[in-house]
Amino acid sequence: MTLAFCGQPLDRADPVRADPERLASLAAPDAQLLLLDRLIPRLGEGRLQWGRVADAGEGAELVFLGLREGEPLFASVPEGGDTDPAYARRETWTALARLADEDLALYGAARSVLDWHARHRFCAQCGQPTTLAKGGWQRDCSSCGASHFPRVDPVAIMLVEHEGRVLLGRNAGFPQGTYSALAGFVEPGETIEEAVAREVLEEAGVRVRDVRYIASQPWPFPSQLMIGCHAKATSDVLAIDPNELEDARWFARAEVAEAIENGEASTGFKAPTSRAIAHYLLRWWLEETA
Ligand SMILES: [Zn+2]
Repeated sequence: MTLAFCGQPLDRADPVRADPERLASLAAPDAQLLLLDRLIPRLGEGRLQWGRVADAGEGAELVFLGLREGEPLFASVPEGGDTDPAYARRETWTALARLADEDLALYGAARSVLDWHARHRFCAQCGQPTTLAKGGWQRDCSSCGASHFPRVDPVAIMLVEHEGRVLLGRNAGFPQGTYSALAGFVEPGETIEEAVAREVLEEAGVRVRDVRYIASQPWPFPSQLMIGCHAKATSDVLAIDPNELEDARWFARAEVAEAIENGEASTGFKAPTSRAIAHYLLRWWLEETA
């Protein structure tokens, strides 16, 4: 069971990022450049397509993605980023569905960092323009001296269990019939366990204990790190916050198994897409309780 966007095949080669001369020599005109239409990957036979750094044009901001078997790979920062939610871009999803696992991980990392550059061109401290540094894993402000780093936003996502059933919810934006694990951003000053407990209480009115970590997944729309957990509810009485959830229910093992096995054809609820960690968590739970 592999998780989408995981298993980055590149050596991120931090010493190279920190060495401007080495970086400049690697970014030769014939070095490999990831081909994108804005942030949408160009594909050929299910693989990412690569052009040459020379194609990026004069003055392009280049991100050093890393080394693949010693060969440097680059991508060029597009003019604009992408603030739409992941499901809003059908072309992206069509492309992603065809990509090999290894390329999906490579694309996810590239997408996240390129989007960050495109939308963070100015200093958050003084408002002046910033410049790309460390091969694209930093931006520096020459006006006030601040350094800025690509964002990673932690999100706790949890499968809450009570006496053999799991709690799943849906919000109004989900495709019809789809229920998924509850989730929310980790806030400053919180542990992952505290974020899990707070989110479940806020959204569904349920207290949890025994929070444990299961798996994580980078989710590049735009820069989440999904932290998958399991928790036990102390009661099955729900008090749903209608601002957060349209509905939430407890699902028995057989219902979850049917939804996972039959996907879109499920006669019960629809499980989240197989690319999402919520799908992985449900599969993990089915195996765990088998
Ligand atoms: Zn500044």
